[in-house]
Amino acid sequence: MNSASDRLSPGLGSPDNPLRVAIVGSGPSGFYAAEALLKLPLTVSVDMIERLPVPFGLVRHGVAPDHPKLKQAALVFDKIAQSPGFRFIGNKTVGQDLTLAQLRASHHAVIFASGAESDRRLDIPGEDLPGSHTATAFVGWYNGHPDHRDAQFDLSREVAVVIGQGNVAIDVARILSKPVDELRKTDMAAHALDVLAESRVREIHVIGRRGPAQAKFTNKELRELGDIPGCRCETPLANLDLNAESTTELDDKTNFVAAKNVEILRLWAHDPSMAAGRRIVFHFLQAPVRIHGDGRVRQMVLERNRLAGAPFAQQAVGTGDTATLPCDLVFRSIGYRGRAIPGVPFDEIRGVIPNDGGRVAGCPGVYVVGWIKRGPSGIIGTNRADAVATVQGLQADLAQCDPSPKPGAVGLFGPQAVQIAGAVSYADWQRIDTEEQRRGALVDKPREKFTRVADMLACAATR
Ligand code: NAP
Repeated sequence: MNSASDRLSPGLGSPDNPLRVAIVGSGPSGFYAAEALLKLPLTVSVDMIERLPVPFGLVRHGVAPDHPKLKQAALVFDKIAQSPGFRFIGNKTVGQDLTLAQLRASHHAVIFASGAESDRRLDIPGEDLPGSHTATAFVGWYNGHPDHRDAQFDLSREVAVVIGQGNVAIDVARILSKPVDELRKTDMAAHALDVLAESRVREIHVIGRRGPAQAKFTNKELRELGDIPGCRCETPLANLDLNAESTTELDDKTNFVAAKNVEILRLWAHDPSMAAGRRIVFHFLQAPVRIHGDGRVRQMVLERNRLAGAPFAQQAVGTGDTATLPCDLVFRSIGYRGRAIPGVPFDEIRGVIPNDGGRVAGCPGVYVVGWIKRGPSGIIGTNRADAVATVQGLQADLAQCDPSPKPGAVGLFGPQAVQIAGAVSYADWQRIDTEEQRRGALVDKPREKFTRVADMLACAATR
């Protein structure tokens, strides 16, 4: 035991008085927090509370279906879930079915791992016209998220615009341009495959408000677009002119991802990746200022930007010059945003729970991990170190924690609780999982997901 546990009040963290922690959210950051807790040299009991009946957050509902390797993180999470001391409580929403006060009364600590389920807004006229969508909704829709099950995407016209140049924008551009037969063997939701099979989208414009050296996508994801059969990637050569500050940025050895991105884009400028039916066109230094339409999206007005500021701190500044881009569809992919939970502090500007290194300001015993802690950045693995850091803080705080035994989930729902209260247990999820895989095997897919909560619950109930 280390010095923090030596200072514990007698008994806390012993088999008779386990350290009980509630984790809110079952995505990567929640599972990595559970892993870090269960590795402590203490007896720990983790109650993971999830609003959906199914676990794994963005690994299930965010990672693109044609990136199955990234989805293998779920195998690691499954192992964590089998650990003694771990309990999954699905289909329960904190702030609705349970309050933070109840969680604090029944646990020694609470960790929010609720991610960033909403999205940033452009705040421009026409943003909410039919045909203008968030990437969050599109990604959730093709991944079978129940919240987006009934979203409608009219792909019957030719020109789509994607605003933003992060990896989510690349996912959206790739899914719109890939031959549907390449998606049929993934776990993409059947309703999305049906719509994509009829898609007439031919031109996808990916718009960045800053320059090619500042784009946030990564090399592998960008390069992959060039390998899509029947699709050509291009960017106007003039768009790749760099100012002196951007050249300085690219000369920095640590900035190799940006340097490689520019190299790939230059290649496409000179030699488009392939002659074909579909095109992906990258535009830089353009900011959307207005979307025009008559009951649906028809045109986007873009303002030309210039960069201002020192290397690595360059911001986009409008020049006043505008141009219009006729289009039929808009996908706003400008970053996810955390959602406020009733009764839990929230920073409206940053879209996170305010915290100091994972400790929630003014709420002793309450912690955060992942995107709701630091904002929507990084890859799945980034959340592991992030969760470990928060759990180290939690461990260091145990000396100040009330050591009296807590009931955990039993205190919340009663002794038989999880089933009586209509919650979904991990064993229930395993039944859903098995059934999804069985349905998938019938159509040569890794799984056919349930996309409605009622269907998930009906399957879970076949005990
Ligand atoms: P992101 O990487 O933060 O990219 C957001 C993009 O939106 C940036 O190009 C940003 O430009 C732009 N933007 C923001 N506000 C804007 C505005 N008002 N007007 C115009 N453009 C605006 O976010 P993301 O793509 O949602 O990805 C989130 C995280 O998930 C990232 O860490 C990403 O790498 C990760 N992810 C990884 C994968 C993968 O590994 N395959 C797949 C998907 C997502 P500025 O740079 O100028 O702010």
